[in-house]
Amino acid sequence: MQVKSILNRIEPLKSFVYQRAEILEVEGTPAVIQVEIFPRANGRPICSGCGKKGPTYDRLSPRRFEFVPLWNIAVFFVYAMRRVDCRRCGVKVEQVPWCDGKNHLTTSYRWFLARWAKRLSWKETAEAFGTTWDSVFRSVKHAVFWGLARRELENIEAIGVDEISWTNGNSYLTLVYQIDGNMKRLLWIAQGRTEKSLRGFFEFLSEKARKGIRFVASDMCKAYLNVIAEQVPKAINVLDRFHVMKNMNTAIDEVRRTEAAELKRDGKEQILKHSRWCLLKRPENLTGPQAAKLDELVKYNLKSVKARLLREVFQQFWTYTKGGWAVKFLDSLRWTPKVGQFLAFNKVERHWACGPRDPLQGSRAATGR
Ligand SMILES: [Zn+2]
Repeated sequence: MQVKSILNRIEPLKSFVYQRAEILEVEGTPAVIQVEIFPRANGRPICSGCGKKGPTYDRLSPRRFEFVPLWNIAVFFVYAMRRVDCRRCGVKVEQVPWCDGKNHLTTSYRWFLARWAKRLSWKETAEAFGTTWDSVFRSVKHAVFWGLARRELENIEAIGVDEISWTNGNSYLTLVYQIDGNMKRLLWIAQGRTEKSLRGFFEFLSEKARKGIRFVASDMCKAYLNVIAEQVPKAINVLDRFHVMKNMNTAIDEVRRTEAAELKRDGKEQILKHSRWCLLKRPENLTGPQAAKLDELVKYNLKSVKARLLREVFQQFWTYTKGGWAVKFLDSLRWTPKVGQFLAFNKVERHWACGPRDPLQGSRAATGR
């Protein structure tokens, strides 16, 4: 069976024909299969503006369109697009059935990549099929927006908001997942990690769908927190453990710096010098000298040590599996004297203990990502 016959079977074209298929080998690069496509004789091109047939105006130089790899060899269609002299739209590039717009990926290949990207990470998908991260991202985006246009988006109870960086951390994407039960379904992709990137998702939903959302898992990015508070004020905003603890460490560091400055101002012994890491690290991660330094610090009545102790006490929070107990625990911490000193802690607490529902339900869903 020839490659042409296989293609006619899996990707039949009505007004076009597959011509020569050949393996191209350029030294230093992997071999590719290249398949030429020509329009059928007497077939008139379709205008991409209005979808009506019209006379050919001219032909552009040949372009390559990437198709699903065969035996792990990249496959490219090569075709010189015609331009249509359309009565309604003027001179327009023709519409072709294997691809839309200016995309260099064929529609079949985009669906192929998007399906694999549900099982593998985007990076792994790109590596497995010898394509770029960007192509996988575009394929997933295409699939998500195809779904959004056709799918009923009601009955969503829990969503997770995530950000990913690409191009070496210079650009960001905002992703919104549905995370009801064991389900994890990508609902939204937007460029950037601004309020606008996330607000777009909520504005897309019907009012009923928006009001049905009970849990939102997110990190502590200010832009996200603002939009969540504005769009779904009644939902519980579940925060990721990593970000909560990171915020606590920032608070401990702040307390240490202020205290060190006070000691210096009052002409007291500079006991807090070189104490940053011994205060921030978890006990099991301390090096010998850091542990010794900490042993020395606890002999003094220091706010920094108390701040650290509070963080260690708070670790217990993550062991609860019943929401009621977790809320009780938070209540008990609220009675700890001087808790108000730890600004970040107050911030965290407000987000956790803010609703009548079981906050841990959402948290379990969130960690399933
Ligand atoms: Zn037209």
